[in-house]
Amino acid sequence: MERSIYFFGGGQADGDAQQKELLGGKGAGLAEMTRLGIPVPPGFTVTTEVCNAYYAAGRALPAGVEDEIRAAIGRLESLLDARFGSAEAPLLVSVRSGARASMPGMMDTILNLGLNDEIARGLAERTGSERFALDAYRRFILTYADIVLGVPRDRFEEALGRARKQAAARLGVDATRLNAAELERKVPDSLLDPESLAALIQRQKDIVLGATGRPFPDDPYVQLWGAIRAVFDSWKNHRAQVYRKMHDIPEAWGTACNVQAMVFGNLGDDSGTGVAFTRDPSTGERRFYGEWLPNAQGEDVVAGVRTPHPLSRSGTGGGVDDARSLEAQMPDVYAELVEVQATLERHFRDMQDLEFTIQQKKLFLLQCRTGKRTGRAAVRIAVEMAKEGLISQREAILRVDPGSIDQLLHPSIDPSAPKKLLARGLPASPGAATGQVVFSADEAERRAGQGKAVILVRSETSPEDIHGMKAARGILTARGGMTSHAAVVARGMGKSCVAGCSAISVSQGQMAVTLYDDHGHPTDTITVKAGDLITLDGGTGTVYLGAVPTVPAALSGEFEELMVWADAVRRLRVRSNADTPHDARTARNFGAEGIGLCRTEHMFFDEERIQAMREMILADGEAGRRRALAKLLPFQRGDFVGVFREMAGLPVTIRLLDPPLHEFLPQDEAQLHQLSKAMGVPAQDLSRKNEELVEYNPMLGHRGCRLAITSPEIYEMQARAIVEAACEVAAAGIEVEPEIMIPLSMTRRELAITRALVEGVAEKVFAEKGRRVDVRFGTMIELPRAALVAGELAEEAEFFSFGTNDLTQTALGISRDDAGRFLGAYVEAGIFAKDPFQSLDAAGVGELVEIGRDRGRAARPGLKLGVCGEHGGDPSSIAFFERAGLDYVSCSPFRVPVARLAAAQAALAAESARGPRATD
Ligand code: PEP
Ligand code: MG
Repeated sequence: MERSIYFFGGGQADGDAQQKELLGGKGAGLAEMTRLGIPVPPGFTVTTEVCNAYYAAGRALPAGVEDEIRAAIGRLESLLDARFGSAEAPLLVSVRSGARASMPGMMDTILNLGLNDEIARGLAERTGSERFALDAYRRFILTYADIVLGVPRDRFEEALGRARKQAAARLGVDATRLNAAELERKVPDSLLDPESLAALIQRQKDIVLGATGRPFPDDPYVQLWGAIRAVFDSWKNHRAQVYRKMHDIPEAWGTACNVQAMVFGNLGDDSGTGVAFTRDPSTGERRFYGEWLPNAQGEDVVAGVRTPHPLSRSGTGGGVDDARSLEAQMPDVYAELVEVQATLERHFRDMQDLEFTIQQKKLFLLQCRTGKRTGRAAVRIAVEMAKEGLISQREAILRVDPGSIDQLLHPSIDPSAPKKLLARGLPASPGAATGQVVFSADEAERRAGQGKAVILVRSETSPEDIHGMKAARGILTARGGMTSHAAVVARGMGKSCVAGCSAISVSQGQMAVTLYDDHGHPTDTITVKAGDLITLDGGTGTVYLGAVPTVPAALSGEFEELMVWADAVRRLRVRSNADTPHDARTARNFGAEGIGLCRTEHMFFDEERIQAMREMILADGEAGRRRALAKLLPFQRGDFVGVFREMAGLPVTIRLLDPPLHEFLPQDEAQLHQLSKAMGVPAQDLSRKNEELVEYNPMLGHRGCRLAITSPEIYEMQARAIVEAACEVAAAGIEVEPEIMIPLSMTRRELAITRALVEGVAEKVFAEKGRRVDVRFGTMIELPRAALVAGELAEEAEFFSFGTNDLTQTALGISRDDAGRFLGAYVEAGIFAKDPFQSLDAAGVGELVEIGRDRGRAARPGLKLGVCGEHGGDPSSIAFFERAGLDYVSCSPFRVPVARLAAAQAALAAESARGPRATD
């Protein structure tokens, strides 16, 4: 460690904006602003290395750091002509954390440090306001006691209430019938007079003494060491840990600690404090935007106790807000602030979030960092900045988080709306949805038919629930992971879904919800009944009680522009997983370049079809099966015609039947009897057959191409439907590119058999129709063995599509339908950085993909390679597929824009890894 302290002040700074790792975002920003000549109260940053050394030494400041800090305080004193610990010219400081990545509100801040009774008196004299000095002092004791000494804030509430009552009596307010909130409204902090404040301070000190057994520390240096330690400690507090986990921030980064001379925004009406953004963080509009409060300090603006005023006049003329704006109240300060924000945005070439304080008409900047923004704002700001020439188009592409694009495509929760958290599950499919709870698919359909918005709540969904999922606004399940049926289907439909929400249990027409505290301990159970309102946020996996207002989806012109720029740089093609003509159209509208996976089984669940399907499965012998399949053929053909038309001129990969047959079987007695009547077969016989089909491990059982080995007539019918549809559409002059894909293969022989079958059917159809179309034959790679023998499989297959859902399941030996129960704990324990069903396990499953690629391409040069598992729509997995040199990814329609942007970013990253381009 070369040095522990980086000083800034008087126009000079030891650090700069590049040193975020060492100084944290806040420290680096303060240093850079100082260098730019922007008015910043002087101070210094204790580095993140000191934080890490502090932990390494068992929470002790490393030797020498205290001396360096004393020297830095000395520099502050001479710069400001004040002294730390002196009553004549008191120097007070703020102590704040500041990590490399911004973690708003996650860590602790202490203001007004350096006060004791004597210094508070000095401050009163110096500022001419006893009220101000005592108010600063009592706030300091409160935060210091809470953050450093561990005496919880609520212990002081009663004392504050008493002070308010005293002040009320003096003001002539009758406080006898007021509750705490009403009292605060009648006697706000600003009305606490010096006498009540002095008494309050004494009581606060007594509380500290009672709670800790020691008096509140009077020595400013003792206060300072305690505060710095507390800032470092806060890096590992529970809140910060949860936030880090949510945002993938490594614990090893540590936080820096900034000690800075206090400036006061609460010295009267010519003072104030505020926050500002150089552009509107919610819409992205290029306008200086922010809020301020006169005569206020620190967190007052964000704390929400007083309503802040706008910075700028609205431009629409008049109004109270305009009159209270900083522009109207202090035009000179406002003009300076406008200039400062423009300088900062130009300098940092990105939207900045600023914190400022005005002390007696003098402006100080306290913070400047890259501003957080909504997905919508991110797109607009990136595109407009590129057009303004501030950044390049490539930078614009890299500026937008592909994950945030989801916000643009789905309605989202209104961030300012009040909400009551009910439970958390997996963020299975983004979007916000509010509706009445229903517990069955039929009920969902019935209530939706009456015009009601409903949320379908199930332990887990099965293909039987499709109609209910279609009718519902959102889906909530207690079990299942990120590739469970509910998750995959909801994503395909673009519907909000929270899956694997283990806090709920569904039975007998109601759901019991276990409530947890911040530490994950159960606190209570509540019951939600059919008809009760809940709201889902599928983007975060959160469930709220009641209706929470949402903001509708809206695609802007800037979004289209950004997509055009992204398409120009990406190499990976983006296709979509779509099972119906409707989904195919949605996908194409979002820019899909073909269908990478059409799951034919989803076509069998409509009422008229499921009956024929069941007949086929339960028929005795081939003849019975063929009779039932003949009923299904026209339906399948019709679907394929629709899909081919929607995807005119683009490839369409159709996968032959995959799931275990029992998924299609009657679920209850009523369905069994209906079927028995239709087939003229006794119900007992059907029931026995039904039982025979039950498997212990259906996912590893009789599914995929194994079905075709035992009952080839199923694939025969499907191949015929595909080829007939292709011929029909081609005959209408529409270009078709059918690709037939075999699921779950693991041997060359399986492919040789199914290929002969498909080709045989195709030849027959060509002869019947008197025309030929090109039909490609390929397979999914979903089993480790398939990846290993990819060379042999490529002898038969013209393309591979990695089914990374099953490949993850089979490589890890983790059931994708049960993973939700324990994968959370795996991620929490750091065993997996992310859910491997969501984000590709590059080290394991990724290597299988690479082996499959190498062995496949060695046997068949130019073999087309794609991915159709859910990872095809996940940005970090897409980066892996780019590096792996695959040809395309395929994802649900609503993720197509996400994938286009992620593919472009991955291409740019790959390019910069190869070295700078000659033209840049
Ligand atoms: C897969 O396994 O990755 C896949 C796409 O198929 P499914 O999810 O239908 O099993
Ligand atoms: Mg699969």
